[in-house]
Amino acid sequence: MLTITVLYDNVAHDPRLQTDWGFACLVEGLEQPLLFDTGGKGDILLRNMRALGLDPHAVSTVFLSHFHGDHTGGLATFLAENPDVTVYLPQSFPENIKDTVRQAGATLMEVSGPATIVARAHTTGELGTRIREQALVLETPIGLVVITGCAHPGIAKLVRQAQTTVGGDVALALGGFHLRDANATQIATVSAELQALGVQRIAPSHCTGEDARRALAAAFGANYLESGTGHVFVIATGE
Ligand SMILES: [Zn+2]
Ligand SMILES: [Zn+2]
Repeated sequence: MLTITVLYDNVAHDPRLQTDWGFACLVEGLEQPLLFDTGGKGDILLRNMRALGLDPHAVSTVFLSHFHGDHTGGLATFLAENPDVTVYLPQSFPENIKDTVRQAGATLMEVSGPATIVARAHTTGELGTRIREQALVLETPIGLVVITGCAHPGIAKLVRQAQTTVGGDVALALGGFHLRDANATQIATVSAELQALGVQRIAPSHCTGEDARRALAAAFGANYLESGTGHVFVIATGE
């Protein structure tokens, strides 16, 4: 079984958890648990994990999508709690974040092109121009699961990259789709692109924006999944 638990999001879901601007989720069911992004504040991240009975010390891999503070702000606090991790971040990251990783005693892995992180989990490599970002791609029996932080390079571009580098159809895309400043035409274009790419289900939150979430929900119907802090996505793997 593969589970993805949203630990940090500005979209509320589980009332036991604190909601705050940013994004982080925990992937379990790989060889070892993987933390995707850290949210903006480490104390909120750790509190939300513990409220869900999730152990920060079980995490062995940290995957950072892009350098923005609402995705990396919790890193130092997390590493102070558990430095025994390998941190995968885009090569273009500012030196101070790389130093945070090194000074905590964690292992730093700089990502440029597509690569395998652990078995069945891959990075698209860093994409985009102004804000470079990587997405996480999980291989599952139902197809690929693509997780994005803010999707600054464009959600369709990241999905396309996942399909070409890992191969296969995308069963689920989740995370921030960065459409909160997009107009109705731009949102409709992205929605059509995702459908043309054959993306089966979507679970957008964080910086996707209310208008875009509504439009995407209308376009995807039953294949639009609600997300938010504490939401858990379960994918049966037959194991
Ligand atoms: Zn963000
Ligand atoms: Zn961002």
